[in-house]
Amino acid sequence: MGFNNEKNSYLASIVLGAFFLSHTAWAEVNFKMQQLSNNLHVLYGQGGNIAISTGKDGIYLVDDQFAKLSEEIKKQISTLQQGAPEFVINTHHHGDHTGGNENFAQAGSHVIAHHNVYERLKAKHSEGSKYLPVVSFGKDLVLHFNDEHAHLWHFPHAHTDGDAVVFYKNANVVHMGDIFFNLNSLPFVDVDSGGSLDGVISAVRDTLERIGDDTKVSPGHGSVTDKPSLAQYLVLLQKAKQLMLVAIKEHNNIEAVVNAKPLATLELSYSDWLPQERVTKLFYRSLTEQTVLQGRADCVTGS
Ligand SMILES: [Zn+2]
Repeated sequence: MGFNNEKNSYLASIVLGAFFLSHTAWAEVNFKMQQLSNNLHVLYGQGGNIAISTGKDGIYLVDDQFAKLSEEIKKQISTLQQGAPEFVINTHHHGDHTGGNENFAQAGSHVIAHHNVYERLKAKHSEGSKYLPVVSFGKDLVLHFNDEHAHLWHFPHAHTDGDAVVFYKNANVVHMGDIFFNLNSLPFVDVDSGGSLDGVISAVRDTLERIGDDTKVSPGHGSVTDKPSLAQYLVLLQKAKQLMLVAIKEHNNIEAVVNAKPLATLELSYSDWLPQERVTKLFYRSLTEQTVLQGRADCVTGS
């Protein structure tokens, strides 16, 4: 009996352990849905924020987080409306925004993104992969669907070289992807994917000019906010750029600039994957390698 009891409790602990392990793994992803207009919602989970449009024509998404979350994301969508999304728009190529592409494509969705997102996903997943967009565009594209005119606008060399910001005319919402991090932090400028600090600044400035005073602003990461917050973010980016330029003038190499901690006076939050040192290095490279960037970008776009 003692043996059996021990064995049973041992087995029970394995089963419970496995349950808690899987439960904990899922519990880490705390999905939250927020309504932005009659037929537009934002879904917060793990990775980039997802915009969900529902209505008489069907469903479409902007961004789809990670592949392992696709089933849960589909469940979340089904609380709004039944059916597979007709389209999935990618704001850029990063895996926390495109990881679900293959799963959604297999469910019947058509992926839409900028030409450079197509090229970058092709380089990673190879031609014919369902991760790739089936529709790619250059400067802009308008999706006339669900009584809405969603204007996808490409901002060159911002977070990456393939960023699209989605302007929802009727819902009065803009979905910005990672051009905007609303986390009391500076953005990740992916210099190695054709991004630049100047491009992020001009994309934010242009977006502010295009939206109304009461437009809701959905960032790539962090909570949905408003136009004044985006305006503050622009001021922050400009301050950060000035601090960097002063430091670059004072110090003669990247290590000396990083050691001087020019961004410390801004007193912002940093994450483990994007510490202050990495932001400083990326900003340094962005502000000093413009010629290289231009050369590489020309290769990618073919323009
Ligand atoms: Zn990103």
